[in-house]
Amino acid sequence: MTSTIPHTTCLGFPRIGRRRELKRALERYWRGEDDADALLATARELRQRHWRLASAAGLDSVPVNDFSLYDHVLDTAVLFDAVPERYRELQRRDPLAGYFAMARGGDGLHALEMTKWFDTNYHYLVPELHAGQRFRLAGDKPLAEWREAAALGLDARPVLLGPVSFLKLAKTTDGSDPLALLDALLPAYLELLARLAEAGVGWVQLDEPCLVLDLDDATRHAYALAYAALAIGPSPRRLLAAYFGALDDNLALAAGLPVDGLHVDLARAPEQLEAVLDALPADRVLSAGAIDGRNIWRSRPARVLALLQKARDRLGAGRLWLAPSCSLLHVPLDAAQETGLPAELQGWLAFAVQKLEEQQLYARALAGDAAASQALDAQAARLEARASAPGVRRDEVRARLDALSPQAALRRSAYAHRRAVQAEALPLPPLPTTTIGSFPQTEALRRARADHRAGRLDDAAYEQVLADEIRHVLRQQEAAGLDVLVHGEPERNDMVEYFGEQLDGFAFTRHGWVQSYGSRCVKPPLIWGDVARPAPMTVRWSRYAQSLTGKPVKGMLTGPVTVLQWSFVRDDLPRETVCRQLALALRDEVHDLEAAGIRVIQIDEPALREGLPLRRAQQARYLDWAVQCFRISAGGVADATQIHTHMCYSEFNAIIDAVAALDADVISIESSRSRMELLDAFERYRYPGGIGPGVYDIHSPRVPDRGEIAALLRKALAVLDPGQLWVNPDCGLKTRGWAEVSPALAAMVAAARELRAELAPAG
Ligand code: GLN
Ligand code: ZN
Repeated sequence: MTSTIPHTTCLGFPRIGRRRELKRALERYWRGEDDADALLATARELRQRHWRLASAAGLDSVPVNDFSLYDHVLDTAVLFDAVPERYRELQRRDPLAGYFAMARGGDGLHALEMTKWFDTNYHYLVPELHAGQRFRLAGDKPLAEWREAAALGLDARPVLLGPVSFLKLAKTTDGSDPLALLDALLPAYLELLARLAEAGVGWVQLDEPCLVLDLDDATRHAYALAYAALAIGPSPRRLLAAYFGALDDNLALAAGLPVDGLHVDLARAPEQLEAVLDALPADRVLSAGAIDGRNIWRSRPARVLALLQKARDRLGAGRLWLAPSCSLLHVPLDAAQETGLPAELQGWLAFAVQKLEEQQLYARALAGDAAASQALDAQAARLEARASAPGVRRDEVRARLDALSPQAALRRSAYAHRRAVQAEALPLPPLPTTTIGSFPQTEALRRARADHRAGRLDDAAYEQVLADEIRHVLRQQEAAGLDVLVHGEPERNDMVEYFGEQLDGFAFTRHGWVQSYGSRCVKPPLIWGDVARPAPMTVRWSRYAQSLTGKPVKGMLTGPVTVLQWSFVRDDLPRETVCRQLALALRDEVHDLEAAGIRVIQIDEPALREGLPLRRAQQARYLDWAVQCFRISAGGVADATQIHTHMCYSEFNAIIDAVAALDADVISIESSRSRMELLDAFERYRYPGGIGPGVYDIHSPRVPDRGEIAALLRKALAVLDPGQLWVNPDCGLKTRGWAEVSPALAAMVAAARELRAELAPAG
């Protein structure tokens, strides 16, 4: 056995900061309270703090340029000057303002489209390209960050999004193939690599997560071409990083590319190790991603060690690197901050810092360090004890699931019949207007919640604040002339946390924030035990809201798939079993809402699509159980009860059958940013139910006017039946202010009325 220790590193680190310092700094800058220098100083401080943290945890080298003020895909576009014309003028005057306009709109400009980063809850900005697009190296961020780290005495490795993944993740405005731009793009990459080499950079990391997707021949060819080209000029050594799954049929391609090292995901795809070892040329380093960068549980030493030993035995420690499976961007920073959790549970957790510490133990254990092996044995024993800890297994939950009949997933009648019953029970005008649920979470609301949590505001006073807010939200909606109202969700900090807090089997961290997009973070709950609902969760406020108005008020629930998807899920049960447990809990809630007189119930499933496995071969199975779980939640209500669902994305084609199979009465979907692209799916697929393609981009502070909303509605009416079109924003309004929301809703209602008037003569 060799006594050398493998090189340890990570592919990327959380950016937002221990106490979300980056979020605060961004928001101060956007509000004009801080200037650019202050923002950039905070960013630098965070980067440096994180590098030090990573190197204190034992990393031999740290990634740089994984940091971003908003998004690393946007950074890549800006770095290579792929800036759409409309931002250029602003960008010239004020690069930072131009950057943020691309990210979030403003200055009268639409933002770039935003979409999910693979199957994570991180969102990236979609580069907007066109045929004939020119690229050039237009910045030095990777090198500047490398210099910063080098000045601290750190061995640093710039992280770049690789050219093929960059193009694959981009879109073109003219329908041309982004990959056709490869030849134009490569010189810019080459120039960057040359500059890095010249500065003395030893390794560069090229992220090519698209290598774990189903690839067509053109893309494979692009990979071969791109990496052959990048191997020609002067360059640091190149680590090619593939993560979020198995390389599978792309293994030979990836292993054959002329690079110096290959990172593979052995957390999601441990079974690929053998084949990877067989395929890897003898002069390559293997970076083994055995520690899961996507969950927050301590790893199982026996499993991880078996993988790493095998790799070490085949390669020798000199050719083996250890790095968590993917960037740690997708986990919170430090579990040591979670002193509020039961000690036992805390002992099961590994956030970014703990993952790096674990990794160090594995590296040392591999080299024969007895103390490290002992520490890992202790970890194994703690995880063993977890199986029998109280609450991990609830017999009544397991029994109810076992006894569940297939009937539970059915509505009483088919949609056509329900539609007629609902038209009678719930008279609405054509093109009914509604919103997605949340209304502005004002400073006052946030303060009240914080005061309540801290014990400065008692229950009665807090509830009074909520009641007043609900009354206000209802009056505003009535004034705006909306048809189906909502209570505004003022009691909810977060659409998953709110439910998790009331369910058994969940736990909450205090600082477990994960970046969702830009300054937006989520704090996913931990599902550690069997899920049960001890009492109704939403009935009280929905009933109260309904008591204040004659118009229907929608009950608002977060669906089982979304709760699952936006939580950190236990790793000792199949995900679909956990999802079924959630579905049963929500089913009880749906029935209680109905019994309380709520006639419209929306079960949000914004995460349905992001749970989709990246590989086609695994998708049908997932969709099957995901749809089943939604239907268990909604099943059994009266025909007159109208079930809505909501999804926040527009790439619909892949899952249109599954969306139809949800058998919801009305669906609302994001679409304003993509200018109703989603309608393509409905053109080919005759969906019978109500559809509300969002007509107003709530991600942007820009207020839409009646004319543009009416134009979008006309576009929708070209494809949809007037009887099925609903009018609503893209998503909830909680991140917006009233100053934007009031005029936007007024414009939306005015546009709906304009279209109704046009439709009227036709009947
Ligand atoms: N009802 C939620 C809201 O309006 C839905 C949010 C979402 O889909 N992400 O906030
Ligand atoms: Zn949404």
